[in-house]
Amino acid sequence: MSNARYDTIIIGAGMSGLAAGIRLAQYDQRVLILEKHYLWGGLNSFYKRAGRRFDVGLHALTNYVPKGTKGAPLSKLLRQLRLRHDDLELAPQSYSEIAFPGTKLRFSNDFELFRSEVHERFPHQIEAFERLVAELDAYDMFSPPDTDISAREVLKDFISEPLLVEMLLCPLCYYGSAREGDVDWYQFAILFKSLFNEGFARPEGGIKPLLDLLIKRFAELGGELRMRTGVDAIVHKDGECQGVRLADGTELEANCVLSSAGWAETMRMTGDELYDTHVNEEEIGKLSFIETIFVMDKTPAQLGHDTTIVFFNDSTEFDYQRPKTLIDPRSGVICCPNNYQAKTPLKDGLYRVTTLANYDRWKELSPEAYSEAKLQSVEAALQTAAPFSFDPRPHEIERDCFTPLTVERFTGKMAGAVYGASRKRLDGRTPLENLHIIGTDQGLLGVTGSMLSGISIANRYALVPN
Ligand SMILES: Cc1cc2nc3c(=O)[nH]c(=O)nc-3n(C[C@H](O)[C@H](O)[C@H](O)COP(=O)(O)OP(=O)(O)OC[C@H]3O[C@@H](n4cnc5c(N)ncnc54)[C@H](O)[C@@H]3O)c2cc1C
Repeated sequence: MSNARYDTIIIGAGMSGLAAGIRLAQYDQRVLILEKHYLWGGLNSFYKRAGRRFDVGLHALTNYVPKGTKGAPLSKLLRQLRLRHDDLELAPQSYSEIAFPGTKLRFSNDFELFRSEVHERFPHQIEAFERLVAELDAYDMFSPPDTDISAREVLKDFISEPLLVEMLLCPLCYYGSAREGDVDWYQFAILFKSLFNEGFARPEGGIKPLLDLLIKRFAELGGELRMRTGVDAIVHKDGECQGVRLADGTELEANCVLSSAGWAETMRMTGDELYDTHVNEEEIGKLSFIETIFVMDKTPAQLGHDTTIVFFNDSTEFDYQRPKTLIDPRSGVICCPNNYQAKTPLKDGLYRVTTLANYDRWKELSPEAYSEAKLQSVEAALQTAAPFSFDPRPHEIERDCFTPLTVERFTGKMAGAVYGASRKRLDGRTPLENLHIIGTDQGLLGVTGSMLSGISIANRYALVPN
């Protein structure tokens, strides 16, 4: 081991790693974040192509609440990181919708719109829906949740109209379920609040200004960030984590290691013995996505579309499974970043369309077949998506597409599983003392969720003497 001993080493400069790093650096810890890529942000990063900057993942920052709101997750996040609401420069959504054939439910950052839409479209379900809302209001987010309860099953106890159940599940699965066909009930409760009771916003300028702010804050607090520095192994002895080994063989010691790489991915770094004992390969995430971004010569509003995000499904049943073929275009998400109420309008029109995709099918393609498959998949996705929005192709200036292989390449997530393992480790514990899981596989997802995950696990384990 080298002499450089850290209080905490964090694996990964995604949202959870950066938030954990800032939190710990505030307490004068010697903190090192190690990131194997040349860019920070993980699943929520950015890149440049033909002179334009693209966000990798950002559709929406969920959990939006206006400045001054007390007790909300976003307020907690800001307080813990000592950031101001204004620092994030959040532009709220116009409105979004869940669109099934013949039925739409609009929602905005004012829950009353969603409530009135449900009442209007499903008048015979008003009482049932209100009972559900009351149950979710009373749900204790801080009590240890039972991760085996299916939201589908619980919803049946409240709502007798199957279409309404499917319509509620569609956005919540798309924005955070690692479980096929369903979402854990505790996760449903968290997501319902973050999407419908709170809402969507987009940082002005996309994800980069927010990431710049986090990186700057971490550096000002004395934190150390090393890019292009992958962790090869987690060093441990007698059940205790001692530090990490880098790809060049350097060993770094730490009192505590927090890993945002994922459960199976982290266990793999500990060696075969712990991997074989603690990883059930059935639980490695199966859900991944393909997303295409179109840059257009017109804004969506100029083309008659002013919705921010559309969660669409082309039949009355919503099938949230790993598809058998390359993609499943029957459902998806359309995001139009121009349709946030930004102070500075975006220069180009943007249209993002996302559908479910199968990692294995993409993995077996040759490079030529891969490029061709991307083209065909976008055509298939637009066939279902366009009727719920518009066809961006006549206005296309440029496009880019990512697949499950892109997710795997840039984040190391096995099988390109965007929402990680189907079983979460809510207490952040691992079989090793002083090694803890943060981010996606700890159980809180999305920009806000993964940052809160980093903060809460850092508070719980890394701010106390080991
Ligand atoms: C297409 C897409 C759209 C999305 N849209 C939204 C959205 O609109 N709103 C929202 O809130 N969320 C969205 N998400 C989800 C959100 O991006 C993630 O939930 C969140 O960013 C996860 O953060 P994390 O820190 O847990 O993990 P990650 O972002 O995966 O970060 C982990 C980091 O660890 C690094 N790493 C892994 N292994 C090693 C190693 N051995 N050594 C060093 N570094 C390592 C990785 O490179 C990565 O940077 C989207 C995701 C995708 C893919």
